[in-house]
Parts: sequence; structure tokens; C-alpha cells
Amino acid sequence: MKSLKSDINLILKGLSEIKTIRGGLIALTVIKSIFTALSPFVNIYMSAAIISSLAQKQPFAKAVYLAVITVSLNLLVALITSALNHIMNIRQEEFDARYDMKLNQKSMSLDYIAVEDPKTHQLLEKINTFRSMTGGGLRRLLVSFQELITNLFTVIFSVTLTASLFTSFSSDGEGIAGFISSPWFSLILIAAIFLNIIISMYSNVTVTDKMYAIMNDFIPFNRIFEYYLSEYISSYHAGKDIRIYNQKELIKSESMALLDDAYGVIDKISRNQIKYSAMITVSTVTLSALTYLFVGLKALAGFFAVGAIVQYIGSISQFTTGFTGFVTEFAVLRSNNEALRIYFAFMELPNEMQMGSRQIHKKDMNEYEIEFRNVSFRYPGSETYALKNLNLKFHIGKRMAIVGMNGSGKTTMVKLLCRLYDPTEGEITLNGTDIKEYDYKEYMELFSVVFQDFTLFPFSLGQNVSADMEYNGQEASDCLEKAGFSERIKRMPRGLDTALYKDFEEDGIEISGGEAQKIALARALYKDAPIFILDEPTAALDPIAEYEIYSRFNEIVGDKTTIYISHRLSSCRFCDEIAVIHNGSLIQRGSHEELVADRDGKYYEMWNAQAQYYSE
Ligand code: ADP
Repeated sequence: MKSLKSDINLILKGLSEIKTIRGGLIALTVIKSIFTALSPFVNIYMSAAIISSLAQKQPFAKAVYLAVITVSLNLLVALITSALNHIMNIRQEEFDARYDMKLNQKSMSLDYIAVEDPKTHQLLEKINTFRSMTGGGLRRLLVSFQELITNLFTVIFSVTLTASLFTSFSSDGEGIAGFISSPWFSLILIAAIFLNIIISMYSNVTVTDKMYAIMNDFIPFNRIFEYYLSEYISSYHAGKDIRIYNQKELIKSESMALLDDAYGVIDKISRNQIKYSAMITVSTVTLSALTYLFVGLKALAGFFAVGAIVQYIGSISQFTTGFTGFVTEFAVLRSNNEALRIYFAFMELPNEMQMGSRQIHKKDMNEYEIEFRNVSFRYPGSETYALKNLNLKFHIGKRMAIVGMNGSGKTTMVKLLCRLYDPTEGEITLNGTDIKEYDYKEYMELFSVVFQDFTLFPFSLGQNVSADMEYNGQEASDCLEKAGFSERIKRMPRGLDTALYKDFEEDGIEISGGEAQKIALARALYKDAPIFILDEPTAALDPIAEYEIYSRFNEIVGDKTTIYISHRLSSCRFCDEIAVIHNGSLIQRGSHEELVADRDGKYYEMWNAQAQYYSE
């Protein structure tokens, strides 16, 4: 019973979530359900009235009058239903779009630590699998809720119209006539109605359960097909590989093999459905034969006018459908709760990062100093430390370099500095105060970082540079020019409005890796934060090109604080101060000349090992 209660609570919670996403949708659903349920009863009730009027030899005009009312009522209900349908369709589309937005917003506002956590990916994948396979989740809730309410009103209307049938008894008559008049006769019919309902429900539930079980076998097919279709084939970048390695045949035979197996699953689903729907049909036909007999005999015994036969038979059949539908839909809602649970688990993922409230005084950034105090860090789920007891102090206003071999912890250090992660141990301070205490948003304003794996959007060039819908065109152009993109922009058909890539715009342009780097640099310049960090966005370039870009950037930013990161020592030798990181700790520090003079140091060792690449 407790689980029923918690199931109902979850359903209510889901409904209230739907309400928050698109207000008015639930109220509209209820109104529409009432009209949908009402529609068949208009005909049942009015046909009974017309037949009774004819049977009682009332003036023909009365029957005509009733027929006109019937048609008008039908028309009215149909008009209202179609108007409601129209509004519902629009609202549902809006709901779908906002639902997606809500999931996206949540993904984007998660702590970065959760973004990289495989558990988060699994939750999102489950939400999407439920949605694509069974429409499960909030959408299913909305549809089933509508069915549930429609069925509920069908039951209410049909009980209202049949109540008089079961309460019309008399104590006259003996033998058969007496039995027909007695409450026993009614009880038999009621028992038969519920027997039919039980059979139908059993069949529906079994068919759905079995279908879900079979559907599970289908998930891998779906996932693979979806991958081929929506990711691999439709990503035009894959087009090159498909052609060069003749992957067409591979994908085709892979798909055909999958299809053979998939047919087996589809066959199972359809056999399962046929078996149980046959059971329902036999039971329903038997029940209606019994109903005809019952109502007919009662009418013969003179309990009611002949027109009421239509009303009773129609209503009983509606009752059976309504009641079965109600219970079945409720079961569907309960099984859909699994999808709701996953949805809420994702939406309620906590953000545990301390957001702080301390203001940063932006008087003169040159007065500030940043310090790593005994900082150690382990990635979630990782045994080894990426940073171990790192101590490093630097003054803003200088050109700093952080060098070290691949995997030594340089990027991790940047991620900690930019509060993508918080240290496992130790603290990072800005002017003596733990960075966690500063207002998170304000703190994030301090940094313009270009990571090695930066991403650009398939939006316009201007929007990419400004990271905004509205932007200052002149400034965006200036930044692009500084980043060395001015020649390329002259050849772009719509200048700053030109879309990157062809995902959204037909006339979008393809850009090379080097051009993408320039745009990413321009984006960092446009943000104009007090501290720039270049974390090897140039790793794909050769050492000389990287050196050129780094020193060029150095000229562009003037006396702004910049932290240059590289595993290539030559790129950073112009910096005032170079910190050498090894195995997650600071091992050396000084100017290039000082460091290279220390013959026992790591810097000297690396410098010599790399010298062959750039002996001038
Ligand atoms: P660098 O920037 O110096 O090349 P990183 O800071 O990227 O080095 O990596 C430091 C160490 O942390 C490496 O051993 C790397 O494998 C590990 N590491 C980096 N990112 C992750 C991550 N997201 N999860 C687990 N380990 C990671």
C-alpha cells in the first residue's frame, strides 16, 4: 500500500513538473478528456430518446426535433474537441521544446565534476533511451494522464446512464419472470461485466509486461541504429572515412545482420499482441451477447421503454472500456514511474561546489597574487594524484609559463585555478583568501582560457567570438584581426554573420584546425578578462608555429597577465617566469636563462631532449 502511495506521489510530482514546464497543459488536458469522454454518450443518450419517442408513437415532429438536437450536439462537441486539439498540439510542441531546454540547462549548470562523471552520462542516456523507445517519462505521463481522465469520465457517464437498469426490480412474477425481476438477475450481469474487465486487464497488463521485456532486447539494436544514423552517417565529417575506407559495405552488412535479429524481436511482439487481443475479443463478445439477453428480457418484462435498450447496452459497453482503460492506464503510469525516477534523479543532481559571496575588487589586478598552497588533487574515481602538494605563488601582471611533460598536471592545475574542480587537499588563494569564498560568477570573469580541446559552435563567426547573440561587431573584428584571422574573414561570404560548419546553415563554412585556433584566441581576447591562459591550444601545430603564436599573442595582450602552458619549452622562453611541473608538483622555477643553466634540473634535460626540433 505504501508503494501505491509513493507511486501516486511520484505521478503527482511529475504532473506538477509538467505544469512548471508548460503552464495550463494539465488543465487543458482535463477539459479535453471530459469532452472526449462525453462524445459517445451524446449519441447513446439521444438515440435512446429518439427510439423511445418513435416507439411510444409520439408525433413524428418530436423525433425530428430530437434528431436535430443530436446532430447539433455532435457538431458542437466535435468543434470544441477539435479546437481543444489544436491548442493542445501547440502546447505539447512547446512543452517538448521546453522539456529539452530544461534538460540542457540542467546539464550546462551542473558542477563540472558531475559533467565528467560517467554516472551523469548514464542518467542522461537512460532518460533518452526511455524517451525514444517508449516515449517514457514526462511525455508518457502526459499522454497516459489524458487517457486516465478520459476513462474516468467514461466510467462516471456510463454509471450515470445505467444506474436505473440495475435498480429496477419488482417482487411480482414467478419462475423465469420472477427471476428476471429480481436483483439476482442484475448481480449476474454485474459479475459478468467485471469478469470481462478482469480478463481484459489481465491481457493488457500481460501484453504490456511482455512487450517491455521484449523491448529490452530491442535497446541494443536501437542504440546501434541511432548511432549509425544520427551520429556517424549524418555527421558529414565521417563522410571522408566512409569513402576512403569503403565503410559503406561494412555499415550495410552490419545493419543487415542487425535487422535479421530485429525482425525476430518484432515477430515476437506481434505474436504476443495477437494472442492476448484474441482473448479480449472472445470475452467482450460473450459479454455483449449476455447484455443483449439481459436488457432484452428486462424490456420484455416491461421494466423500461424500448429506447432504453440502446442506452443501457451502449453504456455498459462504454463502462467496460472505460473501467479497463482506467486500470490499465494507471498500471502504465506506475510502470512509467521508473522513467520519472531517473528524470528527477538527474534534475535533482546536487551542485555541491561552494559558490561564495565575497566580492572581488577590480581596482588594479596587478596588485593581486594567486597562490597554490599545498594543493593535491585526485580525479573522481582515480587512485593516483594528478597534483601532489603543489606550492606555487604568482603575481598578476607578469607573463608566467608553466611547462612540464605531457601528463605532468598542467591542465589539471588550470582546471583547479578556474574552479572547474576544487582541490582534494590544500587551497588556492587570491590575495590570501580561498578562491572558494569569492562569488563564483565574478571569479569566473577573471579568466579567458583557451584549452587544447576548445569547442566552437555551428553558430555565426561573430557569435562564436563574442559567445553571445548580440555583440559589438567592431570589437569582434578587431579581436579576429589580432588573432590573425583578418585575411580569412575577407573571403567569408557574410563576414561575421557567416556560420561555422554546415550543421545548421547551408552556406556555413568549413575551417581548418589552425583557423579554429585563431577564432578561439579571438574569443579569449573578446572576453577581455584580466587573466589569459593559453593551455596548449596549439598542440597540434609544430613547435615553431606554436612559438610564433605564443609570442605574437604576447605582443597582442601587452602588459595583461597571461599564463602560457606548454610541454614545449621553446614556446615559453620569452616569459618572465617559468614554473616546471613534474608528476603533479613544482620542481623548478626561474627565467629561461636561470633554468637552462641548472645542469641537474629537469628543465635542462627537457630542453636538450627537445633541442633537435628547433636548433636555429
Ligand atoms: P598535462 O596538462 O600536464 O598534460 P593533465 O593535467 O591533463 O596533464 O593530466 C594530469 C594527470 O591526470 C594525467 O595522469 C592524466 O591522465 C590525469 N587526468 C587528466 N584528466 C583526467 C580526468 N578527467 N579523469 C581522470 N584522470 C585525468
